[in-house]
Amino acid sequence: MAEIIDGKAFAASLRADVATGVGAFGATAGRAPGLAVVLVGEDPASAVYVRSKHKACVAAGMESFEHRLPANTAEAELLALIDRLNADPAVDGILVQLPLPKHIDELKVIEAIDPDKDVDGFTIGSAGRLATGQDGFVACTPLGCLMLLKDRLGDLSGKSAVIIGRSNIVGKPMAMLLLRESCTVTIAHSRTQDLPAVVRGADIVVAAVGRPEMVKGDWLKAGATVIDVGINRVAAGEGKTKLVGDVDFASAMEVASAVTPVPGGVGPMTIACLLHNTLQAAKRREKIA
Ligand code: NDP
Repeated sequence: MAEIIDGKAFAASLRADVATGVGAFGATAGRAPGLAVVLVGEDPASAVYVRSKHKACVAAGMESFEHRLPANTAEAELLALIDRLNADPAVDGILVQLPLPKHIDELKVIEAIDPDKDVDGFTIGSAGRLATGQDGFVACTPLGCLMLLKDRLGDLSGKSAVIIGRSNIVGKPMAMLLLRESCTVTIAHSRTQDLPAVVRGADIVVAAVGRPEMVKGDWLKAGATVIDVGINRVAAGEGKTKLVGDVDFASAMEVASAVTPVPGGVGPMTIACLLHNTLQAAKRREKIA
C-alpha cells in the first residue's frame, strides 16, 4: 500500500516558514511584504479564492491589498489599476484572479503586470525565464507539486516523469520544472495515443487533466510517485457532491509508492506557494538575500 503525501501538513509548514521569513524581512526593510489581489466581477468561486488568499496573507504577517471591481469595469480602467500597482512601492506581488469578464482581454491584462511582481508566474516573461533557466516566478500550483516531489524523492535527476495536461498554468510549467531537475519528461494530452502505456513508463506521474478519476492504478508502474492536481466535483449520492482528483485514488494506492489525496494534496500548496513567491518578490525588490 502506498503512502499518502500530506500536502496539507507540508503547506502548513511552508506557511510557517514564510511567516518567519516575513518577520525577518520586516526587521530589515521596515515594512511587510505586500500582495495586491484584483477581482473583477462576482464569480462566487473566484470570490472564495480571493478571500482565502487574503486570509492566508494576513496570517503570514503580510499586507493584503484587495481591489474588487464591478463586472462592467472597462479594460482600460483595469490596465490603469495594474499600472498603479506596478508603481506602488508597498506592493511586491500582483495577482489578477482569473477568469476575467469576457469583454476584457486576459492576456493583455496579465502582460501588463511587471514581471518582478508576477507572483502567479503567468506572464510570458515568467514563462520565458523558466524555459530559459533564469530566475523568475514559477506558477504556484506546479511549484507546489515540485516541492512535494522533492520532499518525497530528494534528487529527481534521471527519473522519468509523465505529465498529463499541457495547460499554460499547470502542465507546461510543470514540464519545465521537472526538466530543470534533469528528469526525462513526457507531456501527454488529449491526442496522446495509448495513454496507459505512456503512464506505465513513469517514475513520476503528474495528472492535471480535469477528468474525474481517469488515471487508474493499473496504468501505473509499481512504486511510482503520483501527484494529482485535478479538482473535480462529482455526485456522491443523496443529492450530495464530493471532490475527487484526476487519479483513481484507491486503485493507485495499490500500485504506487506515494499518492497525493484530493482534497488535502496539491490544493493547499497553491496558496502556500503564492505566499512564498510574494516573500521572494519582496526580498528581491529590497535586495535582501
Ligand atoms: P486545462 O483544461 O487547461 O487543461 C487540461 C489538459 O488535460 C489539456 O492539456 C488537455 O489536452 C488534457 N486532457 C483533457 N482530456 C484528456 C484526456 N482524455 N487524456 C489526456 N489528456 C487530456 O486544465 P488545467 O491545467 O487548468 O487544470 C487541470 C486540472 O487541475 C483541473 O481539474 C483543475 O481544476 C485542476 N487545478 C488545480 C489547481 C490546484 O490548486 N490544485 C490549480 C489549477 C488547476 P489538450 O491540450 O489536448 O486539450
